[in-house]
Amino acid sequence: MNVAVNTPIFNGNEKKYLMDCIDSGWISSAGRYIGEFEKGMANFVGQKYGVAVSNGTVALEDAMIALNLEKGAEVILPDFTIISCVQAIVKAGLVPVMIDCDRKTWNMDVSRIEAKISSKTKAIMVVHVYGLPVDMDSVLSLAWKYHLLVIEDVAEAHGLTYKGRMCGSMGDISAFSFFPNKHIVCGEGGMILTSSESFYQRARRAMNLFFDAERKYIHSEFGDNHRMTNMQAAIGLAQLEQIERAVVKKREIGRRYQEELRGIDVFQLPVERTEYADNIYWVFGMVIKDSNLIADDVMKKLGEYGIGTRHFFYPMHKQPALIKANVCDELTLADEQYPNANYISEHGFYIPSGLGLKYEEQTYVIETIKKLYR
Ligand SMILES: *Cc1c(COP(=O)(O)O)cnc(C)c1O
Repeated sequence: MNVAVNTPIFNGNEKKYLMDCIDSGWISSAGRYIGEFEKGMANFVGQKYGVAVSNGTVALEDAMIALNLEKGAEVILPDFTIISCVQAIVKAGLVPVMIDCDRKTWNMDVSRIEAKISSKTKAIMVVHVYGLPVDMDSVLSLAWKYHLLVIEDVAEAHGLTYKGRMCGSMGDISAFSFFPNKHIVCGEGGMILTSSESFYQRARRAMNLFFDAERKYIHSEFGDNHRMTNMQAAIGLAQLEQIERAVVKKREIGRRYQEELRGIDVFQLPVERTEYADNIYWVFGMVIKDSNLIADDVMKKLGEYGIGTRHFFYPMHKQPALIKANVCDELTLADEQYPNANYISEHGFYIPSGLGLKYEEQTYVIETIKKLYR
């Protein structure tokens, strides 16, 4: 049997809305589904405004530009994340300052943030990693104490709550992705949400060549074309209509793995719940406890049985692109500051858990892992 690490599922109004784009001729970024998808996401998450863009990476970039921080300001973010985060900061002329992750939750270790706040720090970018939220109350109280803005990367956490509050509603601005392995997909796509009128206006212009609001074809700054098409928004809106079901399905998959694999001593499994949240299992990650065995060994073995897996993130402080950019000081790049990110990136991987995963496929994954590692 072959089991892909992710398969998306389309069983709502996706085809109907998409056909409507083609039948009506509204296929560019000027169609009605864009506005409906933006409003729908903003309502669902609990922010005032939404700006649909072409992917999650540029959602982060335009969100950083929207904040309009002075060049050279420092932004704190997790070391264990995707390059899109660090890139959005560097591209906006800002300086990334990384924080190691917690060994259990895999999220940014919030207890290390305060020591990294300097007079140049202007924002904290949080990333809700793999389906468990960051401990936001700690972040928000630091932000309040030091007058910092908070950016939430919610690419892996649509529909996840922190103490009952929706992820993406707690930051000053938040960024979503709709890549086909997320909870809501539309081919490629992203969204910026905020309740600030000024951040909203600036994000709206940043993602569309910084067109002047009054007179078209006058541009006060260079911008990019990051527009989403009506066709993507049509699929996204149909997916949003089914988000509750997607969340239930994700948790079912995660809990079944949790129960079945718990007895295998080789692996550290995701945290099921903390005092502030229940895991939504965006992916089902596993970390090998024995440091002599690396993720590649297990991934190769599972691959021989047709089981798709993916590596964990690779730490930001080791990224050649960031080192070359020459924006971080030596201390920020010092390897010994990040023992946890280093360990889990080398010993962590995730197994099939897409919304299209069939019951029998999951049984096969479970039985194979038990056979090989129990
Ligand atoms: C997927 C993802 C992104 C990037 O989204 P794309 O749409 O692939 O550009 C950003 N941040 C996190 C945490 C992600 O998982």
